Amino acid sequence: MQIKIRDATILNPDGNNFKGDIYIDGNIISEIKQKISQEAEYVIDASNKLVIPGIVNMHTHIAMTNMRGLFDDLKFDAFLNRGFMLDSNRTDEEIYWGAKLGILEMLSNGITAFMDLYYSEDIIARAVNEIGIRGFLGWAIVNKEITTQKGDPIKNAENFIRNFRNHELVTPLPAPHGVYSTTRDDLLAAKELSDRFDLPMTMHLSENKKEVYDLVKKEKKRPVEYLEGIGVISDKFIGAHGVYLTLSEIKTLGKYGATIVNNPVSNMKLGNGNFSPILEMLQYGVNVTLGTDSATSSNHLDLIETGRVASYLQKNYREEPTAVPAVEIFKFMTINPYKVLKKKVGLIKEGYLADLAILNKGLNMEPSEGHEIESLIYSGSGRNVQYTIVNGKILYEEGKFKGIDVEEIIKKNVKIYNNYKSLINS
Ligand SMILES: [Zn+2]
Repeated sequence: MQIKIRDATILNPDGNNFKGDIYIDGNIISEIKQKISQEAEYVIDASNKLVIPGIVNMHTHIAMTNMRGLFDDLKFDAFLNRGFMLDSNRTDEEIYWGAKLGILEMLSNGITAFMDLYYSEDIIARAVNEIGIRGFLGWAIVNKEITTQKGDPIKNAENFIRNFRNHELVTPLPAPHGVYSTTRDDLLAAKELSDRFDLPMTMHLSENKKEVYDLVKKEKKRPVEYLEGIGVISDKFIGAHGVYLTLSEIKTLGKYGATIVNNPVSNMKLGNGNFSPILEMLQYGVNVTLGTDSATSSNHLDLIETGRVASYLQKNYREEPTAVPAVEIFKFMTINPYKVLKKKVGLIKEGYLADLAILNKGLNMEPSEGHEIESLIYSGSGRNVQYTIVNGKILYEEGKFKGIDVEEIIKKNVKIYNNYKSLINS
């Protein structure tokens, strides 16, 4: 299909902003010009609207979306225990419907790709494929002594990678759960999969004080020192959170060109304390991106709002209003993810894959002429998104999803959620 987007205000994270028409042919942005006369099957009038590259949510557990609200205002230990209790009893159906709900929410917020960390990613891949979002799906590797997965998590991850590695929308990858839930051998096996199949790998990293101190006690090393020591840090390494990092750890991550996912809303809601040292990461060459984390710890999957919080948190803690400006946040959510994901996405540019969002400025973003990126980050939200296009397909259009029974998805998830509620209360 061909799509023509007319009279758009195009915002790019590389500063190459432009007013004009965009032509999408198949899954590629084939032309950008002030005026394109060529006809298209589908024409979107984008006058007074903003067109941005698709937003990438770099850390979530999407299948947990149907547990939203069941983890609020709990002590961290109780939060983890409840997660473990519910996770260990889930059926494929529950995972599938939860993933679908989360994917729809992300699309409605202009998110065109996400990185997941969970078990049963083959089920999540089914939901990704049916709806048409881009999924970077990390199969959770947890030590086999404590995992609730059937079989050996490393073998499961390898099988998943073998089955999906040539898929158009799904990129499978290994995802060790964290230094506290894996052994050195598990981490090395994950790294070996990442090397053998030339894939990124993701894991939780230094999210809270306890996991850092526990490792220091056990290994006499902080997490990044430990991971570097066994050879796991590389330019394919994606650490989620990175709240408790020393300057020396940041320099190590920068030396390898590693990626960190900042999840400020989740961190604040869980009371992790402190704040992730983004400015130092940028200074020493760490690739910074953004994530919502799951709907059990951030309660919404809106990365525009997450970006706003990320910026305000740095400004506030550092007593420096110039810290992490809007344009930097815009890079975190669009172009930076693709430095490690290695796909031609993240810019509205000829020859790039057609993953983009079109936003209505609405009352909350007007006036914005000449400072649209600031308006997007500081005033906007996912609710301004009017169209979301992934791989050249319009998946979300003015509040509607083509060919998807949203009511059915909600109904199924409410039932699952009610079942969890009675499990918690029993
Ligand atoms: Zn997480």
